[in-house]
Amino acid sequence: MRISQNILSLQAEIKSSGREVVLVAVSKTKPVNLIEEAISAGQKVFGENKIKEGIEKFSDLKTKENLTLHHLGPVQSGTAKKLFGLYDYTHGVSSLSTVEFLLKESDKHKKLLKYFLQVNLTDEDSKNGFSERDLLPILNKTSLLENEYFRFEGLMTIGPTSEDPILTRSIFQKLNSIRKSLVPFAKLSMGMSGDYKIALEEETDYIRIGSFLFGSRE
Ligand SMILES: *Cc1c(COP(=O)(O)O)cnc(C)c1O
Repeated sequence: MRISQNILSLQAEIKSSGREVVLVAVSKTKPVNLIEEAISAGQKVFGENKIKEGIEKFSDLKTKENLTLHHLGPVQSGTAKKLFGLYDYTHGVSSLSTVEFLLKESDKHKKLLKYFLQVNLTDEDSKNGFSERDLLPILNKTSLLENEYFRFEGLMTIGPTSEDPILTRSIFQKLNSIRKSLVPFAKLSMGMSGDYKIALEEETDYIRIGSFLFGSRE
């Protein structure tokens, strides 16, 4: 009951932003019965951060309910090949070697996986992602790093741990300005339970919401 109300209120906020924004319901650590509750409320898009946990929870459910599944990273080389087949997106690609590995793997699996490059704009060591300096030359290249089965979808970032709203806004604005100047067709994935309102105002295309929907994980 509460989950469905949370979904409805988020969808209303998205609507009033006037943009088409995808709500990714982040169900990591949460049991399947809560996921089913969200599905009953009309939610079709889910996110998991552990590849294996996602496989356990969604292998049957995904086809049955016609869901879209996002992986939130980081992508670890040991399990990365398991992304293909079940996951539709990964948001955690944060090194060129990961891009190269997944390009090669995608050719073997021949299942479409779209990816976001994770960008670290907060200079926090605890966060993965390309620095702006490393990212710009990649986006400036004339040919993007993709093939038929591994496609570039856009740029992802995580707001500052401090949740300081002014800093958060400046980081989301920065990602949007990188998009606008270099890859205008790219989508943005930014905004979690604590900062999605700012992300909506700064023109994100995907928000990734866990605890606001399903309750805290502690
Ligand atoms: C867990 C997680 C989320 C959701 O976080 P909440 O604060 O619970 O909304 C979003 N993005 C990533 C990358 C995550 O790991």
